[in-house]
Amino acid sequence: MDAIIYIRWSSLEQTKGDSYARQINRCTKFCADKGYNVLETVVDEGRSAYTGENILTGNLGKLVERFERREVPEATLVVVEQLDRLTRLPALEVVGWLTRVFPTGIRFVTADRGTMVSRAAMEADQLSFMSLIFDSFRSHGESKRKSDLLLDSWQNRRNDVVEGKKRNITGVCPAWLRWDEEANEFVAITDPDPHLDRRLIIQRIFDERDAGVGHAIIARKLNEDGIPSWGVGKRKADGWHPSYVYKILHNPAVIGEFQPRSRRKGEVTGTKMGQPIPDYYPRIISPAQFERVSASKQVMNVGGGTKGRMNLLAGLVYCGVCNQRMIYLKKANAGRARTNPKTGTVTIDKSEGVYLKCSGAHRGHRCDHKAAFNYHWIAEAVLDNLLTSALRDVYFEQRSVMIQLADQLASARRELERFEAQAQTALDMTLDPAFKHDQRVKQRYIDVGRQADQQRELVNALDEKLSLSKGQVSPAEHLNRVASVRTSIDSEDEKVRDAARTKVMDAFQRLIDRITFKPDRTVEVSALAGSLGWQFDDKGKLVNRFDLTVGLHEDRLRNGLLRRDNVDRQDIAQQIEEMKKRRLEAL
Ligand SMILES: [Zn+2]
Repeated sequence: MDAIIYIRWSSLEQTKGDSYARQINRCTKFCADKGYNVLETVVDEGRSAYTGENILTGNLGKLVERFERREVPEATLVVVEQLDRLTRLPALEVVGWLTRVFPTGIRFVTADRGTMVSRAAMEADQLSFMSLIFDSFRSHGESKRKSDLLLDSWQNRRNDVVEGKKRNITGVCPAWLRWDEEANEFVAITDPDPHLDRRLIIQRIFDERDAGVGHAIIARKLNEDGIPSWGVGKRKADGWHPSYVYKILHNPAVIGEFQPRSRRKGEVTGTKMGQPIPDYYPRIISPAQFERVSASKQVMNVGGGTKGRMNLLAGLVYCGVCNQRMIYLKKANAGRARTNPKTGTVTIDKSEGVYLKCSGAHRGHRCDHKAAFNYHWIAEAVLDNLLTSALRDVYFEQRSVMIQLADQLASARRELERFEAQAQTALDMTLDPAFKHDQRVKQRYIDVGRQADQQRELVNALDEKLSLSKGQVSPAEHLNRVASVRTSIDSEDEKVRDAARTKVMDAFQRLIDRITFKPDRTVEVSALAGSLGWQFDDKGKLVNRFDLTVGLHEDRLRNGLLRRDNVDRQDIAQQIEEMKKRRLEAL
């Protein structure tokens, strides 16, 4: 028996090499097993099977025409890997197309199960034929298979990289690099303008951290210097964040290493796969500096003992005379246990021993404002007065959980769309006179409808979970949480304490413009671009407060600070509503 192998992959399968190899292998093996004589292989490359382009103007269409003109030996079979290789058009359209092409004598056989799709098969048992087509073109099966295949091909490509065949696994690379098509390698993004030279900015970040500057301050200085952040869209507008600086400081890509990961649906970072590949990216930072910097676990991991998070007001405090920064100073006996000579009680006095002092005056440079301010009194005052506003919902976000949920919700939503579409197709079939009395079609409609209902419940549940994880709670709950963060700042448990301190510092960095220490020993806190102000005495007692934007202040908080809004969520909710409506109308 003669056979022609037909192979097709769509542009959605970016992994064409693998897809092609797999299809040809399976079809060839099938023909060999069956003893078929392969005349030729017809390939449709990158044709969109969704629009049916390949069956009309593509090589599949041409093949049908050759059958029509009797240009192929009689009884030649067309071998396809699976039926859905022919097209991704809806099942009913496939039936229509097959009905039109069968008179040419064309017959298809699938390599996966050896199923014969021909006029004879259709006429012998119309119902079985219909359900075969219906099952073959279920979108759910299609998409699952696709994701499995993608994983396969990804592993192939990873092996190629390790074996040195290819350099570029994903085309995705760290933000400071780009793929140079001509050179066929990754290169650092450089620019005559130092604000845009990402290589320089990476070096600056490492140098500053190496000099003991914290992530929050590094981020703040990048923003102050007007260096555009590397995110896109909304994230770009948000500027540099301490957490992003932290990520850069701990990303071995700066020393050229690449860590392959497999990332399945719903996973945020994916699981490490195998050893890191050295010299994969251009090296920006010396391994020694990277080692040094990434080993110093200052802000994100450790607090106690290091200066980083001890000063909650770091980066915000300025001298009211010379405008230089205030420094955080410890007296030698700070925090030491002291025994009261009269009562004999031992106390660790934390209110003494830590001071803020003008850095200029301290080193005798351009300032004579030598007064030392008690750090704890001022910090307590700022915490008391600003913490509740500073720690808005957004700071309670569990970022990674949220991203994961958002991913899950998006997948669930796509699944729901598929069920809706299948229900619609089934509904169309029940209305079609040809299938009006077919119980199987009706049953199919009921089944798919039920699946869609279940899926909708899942979408709603995920949606709710996502709102919760975004930290949207009542004002009372909010205050409770603020109180708990407040307590955690001095927790005995280092991890708890550091997490709370990071949260508070990040919140302060966003809310507070500056804290100015005046020669009259008052302390002024200015927030939200000067629209809010507090004045304390040097003991932390509130002496004055102003709010230039009564009423406006909430809006500014929302617009200015809570940029990560809920557009996506609303969008999703709206789409679900619309789908519901469509379904009701269809019924
Ligand atoms: Zn000064």
